[in-house]
Amino acid sequence: MNSKIALVCGAGGFIGSHLVKKLKKEGFWVRGVDLKYPEFSKSGADDFIIGDLRDPELCKKILDRQFDEVYQLAADMGGAGYIFTGEHDADVMHNSATINLNMLHFGEKAKIKKIFYSSSACIYPEYNQMDPDNPKCSEESAYPAAPDSEYGWEKLFSERLYMSYHRNYGIEVRVARFHNIFGPEGTWEGGKEKAPAALCRKIAYTKDGGEIEIWGDGKQTRSFLYIDECLEGIRRLMNSTTFYGPVNIGSEEMVSINYLAEIIMGIGNKRITLKHIEGPLGVRGRNSDNKLIKEKLQWAPSLPLKEGLEKTYVWISEQVAKRSNT
Ligand code: NAD
Repeated sequence: MNSKIALVCGAGGFIGSHLVKKLKKEGFWVRGVDLKYPEFSKSGADDFIIGDLRDPELCKKILDRQFDEVYQLAADMGGAGYIFTGEHDADVMHNSATINLNMLHFGEKAKIKKIFYSSSACIYPEYNQMDPDNPKCSEESAYPAAPDSEYGWEKLFSERLYMSYHRNYGIEVRVARFHNIFGPEGTWEGGKEKAPAALCRKIAYTKDGGEIEIWGDGKQTRSFLYIDECLEGIRRLMNSTTFYGPVNIGSEEMVSINYLAEIIMGIGNKRITLKHIEGPLGVRGRNSDNKLIKEKLQWAPSLPLKEGLEKTYVWISEQVAKRSNT
């Protein structure tokens, strides 16, 4: 029986709520912290504290024991409609940086043993992601830095903050750069959802032969990683004794947004016309580069995109059906 204790910050969010369940299965005692409980299912945490991680008093309170592992996933974030419009820049930077500053400052005082930080593919320079067919996102290409959003700049600052605490205070840190994680129980409406969930929702709501809107020309490319593989990557990185990151946790199966819509239409068995409209887009192309993770962890995500989308489409269709019945 594993008697380790873990703290998950952001345990009410998409990845955090799934991570809590995984840690429980592995035998951890888990405390979750968030502004809110998970939206779609009961938290698996042994102890769940509702609170604001920008508040130093809350951080002191939750760190009342020596955690073996801390996972810092809390951030003010959302999809392109939230982070690329510029309307939320000050909040995104202030809120997320304050959480990270607090967690490291008080975590060091509470003698936490190891802390995981979820950075993002959004830290990669815009100049390497202009060509949708050949984006460059290898870990060392992060510098000279030029993220395309303030969200990305905050992530880069915080990566450096975690590494500084490692250098100066000896805290064991692990830093991963997630690339578009998706799956059941993720935000699927309201403006903070990402492309896979937004397209599943639109297609689930639309009748065969109908039309949906897509931001931009749909030729922008991305890769999307199913939640289970993200969790596997987190745990493998955390368990590594020699490698701290930063490392990409993402899929190398790059697709255009138009093609992503095609796959989901196939899953839903519908023919739907795509109407391209103006909208916030982000970079032209982005793909994970998994050379480093393979080399350091002898593992990389491998689940085909379609399989993850099938599970996600089923779940979102259920949400749509529930909504339509109310
Ligand atoms: P999410 O928004 O579902 O979860 C983040 C959680 O943090 C939310 O539940 C939110 O309530 C909580 N939070 C925000 N501010 C807080 C505060 N002041 N105090 C306490 N809790 C607070 O996002 P997610 O998709 O689960 O992402 C988790 C982490 O992974 C984030 O740091 C995100 O930036 C990073 N990330 C995610 C993706 C992705 O595709 N989902 C990609 C790259 C990086």
